[in-house]
Amino acid sequence: MKQEELIFRNESLKSTGKMPVLFLGHGSPMNAIEENEFVQGFRKTAQSIEKPTTVLCISAHWETRETCITAMEYPRTIHDFGGFPIELFEVNYPAMGNPVLALEIKDQVQTTVIGMNQNWGFDHGTWSVLKHMYPEADVPVIQLSLDYTKPPAWHYELGKELSELRERGVLIVGSGNMVHNLRRIAWDQLNADEYGYDWAIEASAKMKEFILDRNHKPLINYSSQGKVFQLAIPTPEHYLPLLYTLALCKNNEKIEIFNDKTVAGSLTMTSVKIG
Ligand code: ZN
Repeated sequence: MKQEELIFRNESLKSTGKMPVLFLGHGSPMNAIEENEFVQGFRKTAQSIEKPTTVLCISAHWETRETCITAMEYPRTIHDFGGFPIELFEVNYPAMGNPVLALEIKDQVQTTVIGMNQNWGFDHGTWSVLKHMYPEADVPVIQLSLDYTKPPAWHYELGKELSELRERGVLIVGSGNMVHNLRRIAWDQLNADEYGYDWAIEASAKMKEFILDRNHKPLINYSSQGKVFQLAIPTPEHYLPLLYTLALCKNNEKIEIFNDKTVAGSLTMTSVKIG
């Protein structure tokens, strides 16, 4: 696609409706090539909303020392994992980028100076879910990175700044897992339909309660929420995309929870649709 077409696409997007915002629990990279209830959930969710003009994804798998945005026209598909079948390495997700919109976001955001990135592309936090949502790869996609030097409240504030994009047909997706402790994986339960340790189930229940109550403070200050939260969030990267999603939740908006299952003991696939 040429620049002129992209500009046209962006301008044509003074759309009326406001796009929902999603948090998607992406789980194992194998979800990219498997058919299961979770990918059905992604698909159903995509079908329930207007086709976006662009997807902006905040993925757990792109952490940087500053905030970056993908600004290339043709992002590559990154296979950022090891030890999986060859079939997974052969997946290519050929969606276009949207450099014009990336630049607009850089110009609008005040919280930080966003770096225009030409090297990244789509990591599996992005393509493993979008492959099911938009299998034709006919929606341009950009990624925003997580600045690992910044505290949770900072990420929440940055998320708020993306609000206006929703009026322009942009679907903002946080992709991670709310409960994500790979060191505690129950290897003997990998194939179980549903299996969660007590602490994972308890943390998940509390998170959902806070989300549905629109009580974001304890979710931002998750490190002060006691032992079950510490076990659920041993490192922030899979959790922080949720804060971007929640930051965009307005008071009167509908909140739906889907794919709400604990798997392999220490992972939740729990996903959220707002609006
Ligand atoms: Zn992941």
